[in-house]
Amino acid sequence: MTSLPTRGVIALIPDACTSCMVCVQECPTWCITIDSHVEQVSEEGARRPRSVSVLDRFTIDFGLCMYCGICVDACPFDALEWRPQHDYPADTRAGLVQGTDQLAAWLR
Ligand code: SF4
Ligand code: SF4
Repeated sequence: MTSLPTRGVIALIPDACTSCMVCVQECPTWCITIDSHVEQVSEEGARRPRSVSVLDRFTIDFGLCMYCGICVDACPFDALEWRPQHDYPADTRAGLVQGTDQLAAWLR
C-alpha cells in the first residue's frame, strides 16, 4: 500500500519550474502568483537562439490555499512537492504569503 504525502506545506523547486503557469491556471483559489520574463539562449550548433522563460517571482498565499494539492499534481515538471512541516505561523495576513526563497527553503 502506498502512503499519501503529508499535506503540510508546499515546497518549490525553482530550478525545475519553467514558469508554464499551469499551476496558476489550475489553482481554484488563485493563490499562486508568478512573474517571469523571456530570455534568448544561444546553443552551440543551433541555427537561432531559443526563447526560455525565466522565473522572477513565485508566491503562494497560504491564507487562501485550501491544500487541495491540484497544483502539485498538475505541475508537468514536478516543481512542486508536499513537505510535512505544519508550523509556519505569521503575525500578519501578509506573512502568510511565501515567496520563492521561502518556498524553496522547505526542501531543506
Ligand atoms: S494546494 Fe490547491 S489551493 Fe493551494 S496553491 Fe495548490 S492548487 Fe492552490
Ligand atoms: S506548473 Fe510547475 S513548472 Fe509550471 S509554473 Fe507551476 S510550478 Fe512552475
